[in-house]
Amino acid sequence: MANRRHTTRHVKGRRLYDVRGAAKVLGATPSTVRHWLRNGLTALPGIKPIVIRGVDIIAFFKKRDAQRKQASGPGRIYCIKCRVPKTPAGGMVDYKPTSSKRGVLIGICPTCERLMYRACSPVKLEAATRGLAVSIQTAESSLVETP
Ligand SMILES: [Zn+2]
Repeated sequence: MANRRHTTRHVKGRRLYDVRGAAKVLGATPSTVRHWLRNGLTALPGIKPIVIRGVDIIAFFKKRDAQRKQASGPGRIYCIKCRVPKTPAGGMVDYKPTSSKRGVLIGICPTCERLMYRACSPVKLEAATRGLAVSIQTAESSLVETP
C-alpha cells in the first residue's frame, strides 16, 4: 500500500508535535501534514502555531487503516462522501471492464446516492462482489477498439 511509507512507528503518544516535527517523524512533508489536518487529523484547539498530540496522530492513522481494510471487504465499496465502505443500494453493482485485466465496479451509495467506484480486476470480481447482483457492462457500444 502506498501509504505504508508514512509510519507512526516513531511517533510518541505523549509528545507534542508542530507541523514540521510531525512531518519529520512520519516521513511526510509539512504540506501533507496540513492536508491530513484538513481531513481528520486533530490539532489542539486555539493554539497557533499548530500543535498536534502524538496520540492524535496515532489515532488518525489507525482509523485510516481500519477504513482501508474494510474497504477491501467483499460486497462493499468505499463512498468518498460518506467516508465509509457501503453495500451498494439494492445490492446491485455494475462492472465495467476498462481493459482485459482491469475494470471498475460502480454502485450507488445507499446514504448519499452518489456513485461509488472500486477498481477491480476480472479475476477478483467474484470475491469482491459476493452477495451482490452484478451486471457486466460491455464495451461494444461505447468504445471503438483499435487493433
Ligand atoms: Zn455516500
